[in-house]
Amino acid sequence: MPECVFCDEQVIAESQIYQTKLSRIIIDKKPIAPGHCLIISKRHVPSFSYLSPDEVEEVAYLIKKLGLALMRAVRAEGYNVLFNEGVAAGQTVTHFHIHIIPRQIEERVHVNPKDVLADAMKSRAELSPDKLKEARDRLAKEIY
Ligand SMILES: [Zn+2]
Repeated sequence: MPECVFCDEQVIAESQIYQTKLSRIIIDKKPIAPGHCLIISKRHVPSFSYLSPDEVEEVAYLIKKLGLALMRAVRAEGYNVLFNEGVAAGQTVTHFHIHIIPRQIEERVHVNPKDVLADAMKSRAELSPDKLKEARDRLAKEIY
């Protein structure tokens, strides 16, 4: 098994909902909210700063594409785009990834990105294989 979770073929096979030439969208195994996804580079690079211009362009394209899919798939009314650049900022997996977290108006939560990514992630539970597949398939159907 590879040391990096985002380079692990098994993880990708279980969780990928979409891919482009240089990037992937995967469902987060420990979602903060239903539909919580990650956009990751296919290439193992430590963080955003290491992406090529083409990779940056694809990531921006995928944020837009995934946001629209989340509105259809989980009725998201908005979403947060969050990432931690570097260990000092709270990055734990050193393979570039951005969190896309669907949000609802009714939540009335004012998000401090630092809180979301530090506190919320500590308390989240891992999805069962069935729930992961269900969440992945529901999103994959709505991304076009
Ligand atoms: Zn990696």
